[in-house]
Amino acid sequence: MRKPLLEVKDLQIKFETKRGTIAVSDGVSFAIGENETLCLVGESGCGKSVVAVSIMGLLPAHARVAGEIRYREADLLQCSPGEWSRFRGREIAMIFEQPMSCLNPVISAGRQIAEAYAANNRCSKREALAEARRKLDEVGIPENCFVKFPHELSGGMQQRVMIAIALACRPNLLIADEPTAALDVTVQCQILELLHCLKDRYRMSMLLITHDLGVVAEMADTVGVMYAGTMMELSGVEDFFYRPGHPYSRALMNVVAGNALSPIRGSVPHLLEPVPGCPFHARCVDAVEQCRRARPQPRIVNGRMERCHHFTGDNSGRQLDQMVSSR
Ligand code: SF4
Repeated sequence: MRKPLLEVKDLQIKFETKRGTIAVSDGVSFAIGENETLCLVGESGCGKSVVAVSIMGLLPAHARVAGEIRYREADLLQCSPGEWSRFRGREIAMIFEQPMSCLNPVISAGRQIAEAYAANNRCSKREALAEARRKLDEVGIPENCFVKFPHELSGGMQQRVMIAIALACRPNLLIADEPTAALDVTVQCQILELLHCLKDRYRMSMLLITHDLGVVAEMADTVGVMYAGTMMELSGVEDFFYRPGHPYSRALMNVVAGNALSPIRGSVPHLLEPVPGCPFHARCVDAVEQCRRARPQPRIVNGRMERCHHFTGDNSGRQLDQMVSSR
């Protein structure tokens, strides 16, 4: 069996704050194979972005991290900051929800791409600029935008520049944190199509964080569902939609599959005040007494992982067509 490109094992991330310790990732595990896309879903504040940032090695200094983040043969958590920086850009790149907050406002789009390329490749300035022009063309930005500053570009164009910067060094893994959330619907589709196309062209793997289950249906090979810093379900995309298993996954689907007016009651527990038992029990329609007392442990049946006392691995349902056609 081929080794995955990225393997995250039992990742624990804690932040020490004046008000106490916050566990933002509590034993999260997943793997991404070559040319595969794993989508991380879950409500805001469930720890998805922190997990993504931890893979980039960009957590603040006061974060306490344990577990393993293995990229090919390297255990990134054991790398020095200098060693880790060699993976950033060249091997693993990341794009964010708000491109404007990541782009340098006083440097033109073309020069920012050229600088990203030059930072990771031995090349002359002329070569870097030529590569930046090729990348702009590849992400569908007209030539005349090369000299434009970020504020002169639309949100969609800014995100394309971010994608061009991320791809400047041909990374093997692209992490995209809500890359389309700030864009309008038509531009969202164009950006997703672009990501799909570039992923196939470069045979990249992708870790995609999104709230949109329609995006998951179109992009994912594997789906990870996070809740309150915990991975509740990890399954293949068909299992996730056709045989929805975990009560939290079903609740998320219920919200988008025509029942947008019936949100999940309650809210995500505050990570400063962890709840006993299953973190989802206060909102779960299937909760029983055991859920309030005992934390469910991950169980794997037929390649699908769930944390739920009721999990048997035998679920049925039909959701995928609905998700795809709802876009
Ligand atoms: Fe619901 Fe209990 Fe399963 Fe948690 S363990 S998801 S509360 S049924």
